[in-house]
Amino acid sequence: MADIIQLLPDSVANQIAAGEVVQRPASVVKELVENAVDAKADSISINIKDAGKTLIQVIDNGKGMSDTDARLSFERHATSKIKNADDLFAITTMGFRGEALASISAIALVELKTRKKEDELGTFIVIEGSKVESQESISCSKGTSFSVKNLFYNVPARRKFLKSNTAEFNHIISEFQRIALTNPEIEFKLYHNQSEIYVLPKTNIRQRIVSIFGKRINQNLITIESDTSIIKIGGFIGKPEYARKKSGEQYFFINNRYMRSAYFNKAVLKAYEQILAPETMPSYFLYLNADPSTIDVNIHPTKTEIKFEDQQAIWQILHAAVKQALGKNNIAPSIDFNIEEGFQIPVLSKDTEVRMPKVEIDHTFNPFEQKLPSTRNPQSAKMSLEKGNLTNWESLYSGFENESKIGETDNFSTLSAEGNQQGLNGTNLNAKYFQFKNKFILTPVKSGLMILDQKRAHERILYEKYLYSLNSESIASQKSLYPKTIELDAKDHALILEISDDLKSLGVDIEDFGGNAIVVNGMPVDSGSQEAEQIIDKFINEFLSSEVNTKVQAQEKIAKALAKASAISGTQVLNSEEMREMVDMLFACQNPNYSPFGKLIVSIIKTEELEKRFS
Ligand code: ADP
Ligand code: MG
Repeated sequence: MADIIQLLPDSVANQIAAGEVVQRPASVVKELVENAVDAKADSISINIKDAGKTLIQVIDNGKGMSDTDARLSFERHATSKIKNADDLFAITTMGFRGEALASISAIALVELKTRKKEDELGTFIVIEGSKVESQESISCSKGTSFSVKNLFYNVPARRKFLKSNTAEFNHIISEFQRIALTNPEIEFKLYHNQSEIYVLPKTNIRQRIVSIFGKRINQNLITIESDTSIIKIGGFIGKPEYARKKSGEQYFFINNRYMRSAYFNKAVLKAYEQILAPETMPSYFLYLNADPSTIDVNIHPTKTEIKFEDQQAIWQILHAAVKQALGKNNIAPSIDFNIEEGFQIPVLSKDTEVRMPKVEIDHTFNPFEQKLPSTRNPQSAKMSLEKGNLTNWESLYSGFENESKIGETDNFSTLSAEGNQQGLNGTNLNAKYFQFKNKFILTPVKSGLMILDQKRAHERILYEKYLYSLNSESIASQKSLYPKTIELDAKDHALILEISDDLKSLGVDIEDFGGNAIVVNGMPVDSGSQEAEQIIDKFINEFLSSEVNTKVQAQEKIAKALAKASAISGTQVLNSEEMREMVDMLFACQNPNYSPFGKLIVSIIKTEELEKRFS
């Protein structure tokens, strides 16, 4: 029988390869713009017509090509970027496969104009379906201009499957943004059907992010930096309150190349756990740098999936770096305290006796009768460590502490007047904590005036305590003298019995009473003034409403719901001791800045901001 195998003609081979490299107009944009970046251009313009279906033009001012190189650039596996297999392990350019131009020219009409700086004349090539139609010398500006027309003209199936112009243009924008975000030192312009979409001047990474995503993002970026022998991580993560319902502004770059990684994405998301509002996604722009020999970009022609030698170690480093950056952002108010700047020591009147400051803190006092976990447990050791800064300076000044409960008024102006008066009498110092509208706690800190939402703060404190108790030491239950029976509907009844063991470890002691009723034998010792019935009712409501979020585990849900149900109500009078205790306990928490529901707890009005108002 005759031999039947034959080599495919180049044009067919290229067309097949094109199927992998060029999925849609956006792929062409990506390949051409990456080539311009590799050619060291510092200004790149992109003109698109009909979402790239009619025209994709990329003009750069890079190094250009000689006549011969221009012709060769369309050959398959023709590249100037690597020479041998070893180079594959030290890739520093975006391209290296030498496939893009061969593929694109197999499925479109391509015109190339290019000139090197040192050449007088440039070259102009027209190529269609892998066939060179013409090549001639022309005068043109330095650099390279590619025009790709009628994409997929000879692959009708592909053309038919292109999406709407809006959808295809969105893909182009995504590719454009990824490249623009890694090359802030290059000026980029993007036009669609002659209207300007982006004009991005040369700048730094932060400003580039801002020029792409808008001014609002600027104050919502937290710098991240981590330098280890395996990997360097730089860039920005979004503040939790900037998190969005949709995903989108999430970028990983490795050695200046955009990369997709569900695995590393998890490392970031895990660091944000519990400080995001439900169903929201944080933004991040993370630039990783690793020795090129430890990564493999050679996995897929579109090169967005990348293999790492030290995946797991990098996961840990990344997770820690994000967590640390978030922590710095969160903890800021607590290390910000500075009593010397925050308070004025009153002038002593003549007949005041000078007293030595003495330490008078009652460490056992707790307004909500909520004992912090005892020192026997590790978390409490950590808590007191973190608290260290805070309580130490306080004890130094405690001799000046005010005994009067000036926090009991709900009007801030009366408060200040009262505080002043005491200062004048020379008997005492202004109170450190003020309550406003029975809702907010105000206290001076080094950088300005700190304002806390007391209900949210309490929710956070209880939540962390409950979560801790669910996993280790149980909270004592206070037995009721007259156990209360509560009627529930069948569903709630079944639900609450299902989680009764967990509730018991939080001090909520319930039993089945038969029918759809339960009997409450005891509530946590710290459940405050609320009726058991009220708390259970709120708890069930909250527990059920949070059920949509499948990611949150059962225990977290219980802790959250119970924290919300037992926290003080929206407005409640607190005296200054209670406020102080609240602030101390809040800053002993792991995430003092946000409630378990992702709501902001702490806000600071900067001194400069205040001064500006009076200037
Ligand atoms: P690769 O980028 O993988 O090398 P391409 O097919 O994209 O493969 O490009 C082939 C070659 O053409 C490149 O290696 C480069 O030498 C040259 N080239 C492509 N675009 C440009 C450009 N805009 N400026 C200068 N040279 C270019
Ligand atoms: Mg290329």
